[in-house]
Parts: sequence; structure tokens; C-alpha cells
Amino acid sequence: MRNSSVRPCPCGSGLESKWQYDARGIELCRTCRRCHRERMAGFRQDVLTDPDYWHDEPIEED
Ligand SMILES: [Zn+2]
Repeated sequence: MRNSSVRPCPCGSGLESKWQYDARGIELCRTCRRCHRERMAGFRQDVLTDPDYWHDEPIEED
């Protein structure tokens, strides 16, 4: 069961936080609008945008 009440961000800002998910829908961390940019910058861009990031092998079809 998930409590739907608003949780303050773990960064200590006291602001409302939301779960951030990667491209596969896996929870990464909670962020608020104050720390969002900084925390998301710590993740690889492809993890956030490419659902295939799990497979680390390069795909060459040319
Ligand atoms: Zn925060």
C-alpha cells in the first residue's frame, strides 16, 4: 500500500517531492523543484530516455 500524502523532499528543502522514474518506469529517487535539476543530472541521459539502456551492447544494423 502506498501512502498518497505529500512527502517532504529528502534533500531537506521541505518542499513537496515526487518520485522520478527512468525510461523503464523504475523509481530513481524523490526530487522537489529545488533539487530536481541537480539530482537528475547525476543520471545518465539514456537511462532517462531510452528504455533499452539495460542492454549495454551496441546495436549495429547497418
Ligand atoms: Zn529536494
